[in-house]
Amino acid sequence: MSIKNFRVAIIGGGPTGSALALMLARACKMPEQIALIQADALTNYGFDPNKDPRVLAINHGSKVLLESLDAWSTQSVAIEHIHVSQKGYFGRTVIDRDDFKVAQLGCVVAYAGLHAALSEAVQASGVEILRGQAGQVLAHDANGADISVGADTIRAQVVIQADGIAQADKTRDYTQAAIIAYARASHPKKGWAFERFTNEGPLAVLPHPLAPDQQAVVWCCSPERAYALKQMSCGDFSTALTDMFGARLGFLRVEAPVSVFPLTLNVKQKLVDGRCAVIGNAAQTMHPVAGQGLNLGLRDAAVLARHLTAWLCEATTSPDGGLKQFEQDRLIDRNLTVRMTDTMSRFFATKNPLPHHIAGLGLFALDTLPALRMPLARHLLQGLRL
Ligand SMILES: Cc1cc2nc3c(=O)[nH]c(=O)nc-3n(C[C@H](O)[C@H](O)[C@H](O)COP(=O)(O)OP(=O)(O)OC[C@H]3O[C@@H](n4cnc5c(N)ncnc54)[C@H](O)[C@@H]3O)c2cc1C
Repeated sequence: MSIKNFRVAIIGGGPTGSALALMLARACKMPEQIALIQADALTNYGFDPNKDPRVLAINHGSKVLLESLDAWSTQSVAIEHIHVSQKGYFGRTVIDRDDFKVAQLGCVVAYAGLHAALSEAVQASGVEILRGQAGQVLAHDANGADISVGADTIRAQVVIQADGIAQADKTRDYTQAAIIAYARASHPKKGWAFERFTNEGPLAVLPHPLAPDQQAVVWCCSPERAYALKQMSCGDFSTALTDMFGARLGFLRVEAPVSVFPLTLNVKQKLVDGRCAVIGNAAQTMHPVAGQGLNLGLRDAAVLARHLTAWLCEATTSPDGGLKQFEQDRLIDRNLTVRMTDTMSRFFATKNPLPHHIAGLGLFALDTLPALRMPLARHLLQGLRL
């Protein structure tokens, strides 16, 4: 039996794998030489927020990238102001769209909607989609790898792991879980996103992309507390949430507590092993504080696509130099973003009051000194540009 050959095979058709497939398809004249292996048997692109109710804050840089790929989710809502505070301590800061002279700081989309938009764009791109079966690298050598896809085997000169599962060298269990819920505010504020640090973990209240009169809540706390909240009646959950968040939006009436995600840090140090590379959550799974995971994953995909383009266009005969360059170029951005989210999630989640007072001063300084606020905000909003 002959084995089908591809130049590039991407294992995992989530947001980062799909975005990479689209970028590579644009770069080369023969998109059918790229395979995207997606375990989910999604066929009609009708997205199902009940299956994955996550909402994602997408920064300006990621939005521009996704729009350029014709893969922007139509159901999105703009973030115009970001309010950062900590419960029980002084200090808060507001990042405003006017600081950057832009119409919006970022957007909120539903994971399911964005995934559907990307899947549809890949379908139209000419990339070969192998759907409904998991892919696994069987063996790799200096010229590529053999990959099992269900009962079949394919061969690719370059394999990209984008399956969302980091085979990590560095791990941390945050002993936190994120509970996702939708809530209706008695005093809603259009375009405002809130990040509130509590000594249980960060609590984000965002505009909801699917319902203009609702908020999307991402509440990080101990796993025990998260499962207890999930079991509560909507009334009790609403009171607990409003107590924790404060009165900025009035009373937050929860519609339905939906899902609990356990939170861990998993970081793979080496991104490239021979002709195999990793991107997105397969390279680093982070704490959701400050909403950086997918934004970072999309930057992985964009840098990798840039470095494979010369080889795909046959200007160079080997992808090895491009893969090496990709690994080097991702070092600073990955380290910075992983460290920032890791530090933020642990620093505030301490019962010791001293760090909270220091953080209060920090927020106060950020609020009063735009020169301090701008670099942090720029990294959060646009990502590091190299
Ligand atoms: C509660 C929460 C809130 C978050 N909020 C934000 C936010 O506000 N902003 C942000 O930027 N990020 C956020 N994130 C992170 C973001 O969800 C991830 O970074 C992003 O989904 C990673 O995309 P990915 O494509 O790398 O992986 P995934 O989304 O995990 O997709 C991987 C895909 O690969 C498929 N797959 C798995 N194994 C195989 C296999 N063997 N073969 C083929 N296919 C396979 C899976 O079915 C899946 O479709 C949040 C995460 C959580 C948990």
